[in-house]
Amino acid sequence: MKVLALAGGVGGAKLAGGLYHSLPPHSLAVLGNTADDFTLWGLHISPDLDTVMYTLAGLANPVTGWGLSGDTWVTLEAIRRLGGEGWFALGDQDIATHIRRTELLAQGMPLTEVTERLCVALGIQTRLLPMTNDDVHTEVDTPAGRLPFQEYFVRRQHRDDVHGIHFAGIENAVVPATVTDAIAAADVIFFCPSNPLVSIGPILAVPGLREQLREAKAPRIAVSPLIGGVALKGPADKMMHDLGFEATTLGIARLYTDLLDGLVIDTVDAELAPAIRDLGMQVLVTDTIMHDVADRNRLAQEMLQWSDELRPALAPMH
Ligand code: GDP
Ligand code: CA
Repeated sequence: MKVLALAGGVGGAKLAGGLYHSLPPHSLAVLGNTADDFTLWGLHISPDLDTVMYTLAGLANPVTGWGLSGDTWVTLEAIRRLGGEGWFALGDQDIATHIRRTELLAQGMPLTEVTERLCVALGIQTRLLPMTNDDVHTEVDTPAGRLPFQEYFVRRQHRDDVHGIHFAGIENAVVPATVTDAIAAADVIFFCPSNPLVSIGPILAVPGLREQLREAKAPRIAVSPLIGGVALKGPADKMMHDLGFEATTLGIARLYTDLLDGLVIDTVDAELAPAIRDLGMQVLVTDTIMHDVADRNRLAQEMLQWSDELRPALAPMH
């Protein structure tokens, strides 16, 4: 059984963690977003890849969902004292990840291989696959102008209205062979509950990747990141609203209509199920809020079981 999971940061990592614990070693591959990547203090930072990596390694800070549990802030304070950029919280141990990544990239190693090295070093028994090895940068159009993603998201705390989203460099980004192979090999493909516009959006925007997923033989199942029209964390609901999408689970279903065989929606959204089924996908209604590790594992297991039920019905269509 091979499982592929598309994941952004904190929301995606929770379900990826549940899948990782519910499957035999090396059965899971996680396809990660690199459009949040940026350079700070000369270091290459991959926030979404690191959130997934730390979660799978069992090292993630359980309160924030990002960063390392028990990390300290000595370097950040010292950088601030020296007049350096101090608005993005990097813990001391976290900084070691960025130093090591930057060092290996500078030696000419592609991000795919760098990420694999880091995951192996942390004892992770699954592949974490960057969506591309090429530089892609999300930029957000706001009333204050076009902002680099972390400027909008962290520094300005995603308060600005969003008039547009751009993935700079995406037209030249190439899908790595590791990703193409993982899509072809998958027995099921999950879209974790991540921001559809700035976490899953960039993954689907790598030229050719959306088509590969559309043509995949495996059942494709997403979990809605919106519950009762609200994001549990971050600006997914406001962004969708600002850009003219309906900020509900039905709006999520419409964004992915060409890609999904099934959508998992929360019990509070049960009344949307008929309208979502009318779009041509199956619906599973369950509790989708992952408060703790037990919730993650339970949701992952429900989804694996549901994918087994969907697979025979889909087979003749492929
Ligand atoms: P980021 O990159 O750290 O911002 O995280 P993601 O893009 O992966 O995830 C953000 C989305 O995850 C938000 O829209 C949240 O509503 C959603 N999310 C977070 N936790 C949960 C959860 O427990 N269940 C569900 N269904 N969605 C969640
Ligand atoms: Ca992110």
